[in-house]
This record gives sequence, structure tokens and C-alpha cells, in this order.
Amino acid sequence: MAANILIVEDEASILELIALNINQAGFNPIRAINAEYANNLVNEKIPDLIILDWMLPGMNGIEFLKRLRGNSLTKKIPVIILTAKSEEDNKVLGLDTGADDYLTKPFSPRELIARIKALLRGRSPELINEPITISKLKLNPETCEVEFDNKLIKVSPTDFKLLHFFMKNSEIVFSRNQILDKVWGRTSDVDYRTVDVHIKRLRECLADSGKSKLIHTIRGFGYKFSEK
Ligand code: CA
Repeated sequence: MAANILIVEDEASILELIALNINQAGFNPIRAINAEYANNLVNEKIPDLIILDWMLPGMNGIEFLKRLRGNSLTKKIPVIILTAKSEEDNKVLGLDTGADDYLTKPFSPRELIARIKALLRGRSPELINEPITISKLKLNPETCEVEFDNKLIKVSPTDFKLLHFFMKNSEIVFSRNQILDKVWGRTSDVDYRTVDVHIKRLRECLADSGKSKLIHTIRGFGYKFSEK
């Protein structure tokens, strides 16, 4: 699931530039041209991160940030402040108000994406679609490819989701029901034995590369993905 990133920016060209880069990075951009509208959006659905322009018509970025930090539902949303103001005291005010990071315009989109990833990595690493490599097995969520020693391993879409889940949560033991919840979703009506079927298939896919042993059966409980 891609991270929802709310961009609050009144300059249309900057708003679109940021949205484009966020989209290309595999995240889901949500646009707001002022803080009042952003506030409505946040009340409907809490975003995973907010990019907030300081100078906005109406409620400015700092006032909106104070409002977010004063509400128990929104106080932990990571916020990156954008501003044309480069003075040190403004930066201090932004960080004092509870911004997690701060970028001065003009900034490079690449740097903004790097800062977003750094914040999400700390808070919600499952939202970053970065390739994961464990024991030379490489999984790329953006291309949906699995490789070992630069050779592609063919897996079905469901088995890919299952392997992605395991590699993001390696060394943790999960019950079949937990795996069902996380990979198939709570609302799915598949049976927990489906997990066994897919694990068996996934092991077969990994067998040629000698990596099927990465998936451990924990007797009487479930499964774990582990190098050990
Ligand atoms: Ca502005």
C-alpha cells in the first residue's frame, strides 16, 4: 500500500511539481491549495505524511501545524515544512512548533523525496517501496520482480505479496491467521490453509536458487522468514 502524502501548497506549479515527484517515487499525492481545505481532508482521512508550505493565504502553515499538533489524532503525522524564508529563526520556529523536517525553497525534488523516505522509514517503513535484499534474494516492490544472483525468479502476484510481507518482517514469527490478515486482508474469506498452499508454492519457486529454507515452519504456530 502506497503512502498517502498530503501536499499543502498554494502555488499551483510547485504543487504539481511535488505531486509528480511523489507519484514517481511510488507514493500517493493528495493536493490541497490552502490549509482550510487540507484540514477538511485530514479530518476525512489521516495522511501518512504532510508537506506543508509556510506562506499560505488564510491560515498559514505554522497555524495549521499548531492545530495538527494540538489534536491527539493528528499530532504524530510527520510534517515537512516548506518555506522561502531562509532565516535561522524561522527554521527554529518551524521545528519548535513540531515540524519534523524543514526545506527552504528552491529545493531539489530529489532531496524532498529523500527527506520523505527518511521520515517514513522511521515511522512506517512498510510504506516505502524500496528493494529489499536478504541473503542475496532481492525483491523489488516497484517492478514486482524477485531476483537471485541477477536471475529472475518467477512468482505469482499473490506469492509476491506473501514474499514481500515476509521480507519486510524477517525474523518475526507469524501465525497463519496473522499472515492471512496482512497479505490477503481481514475481509477476505480464504481459509488459513490457503497460507500453507502458498508457502509451499513459494518454497518451490525459491528452490532452484537454494533459498526455500529461508521460510521456516514454526511447528504449532506458523511461519517465519529468517536467514538463520
Ligand atoms: Ca506559498
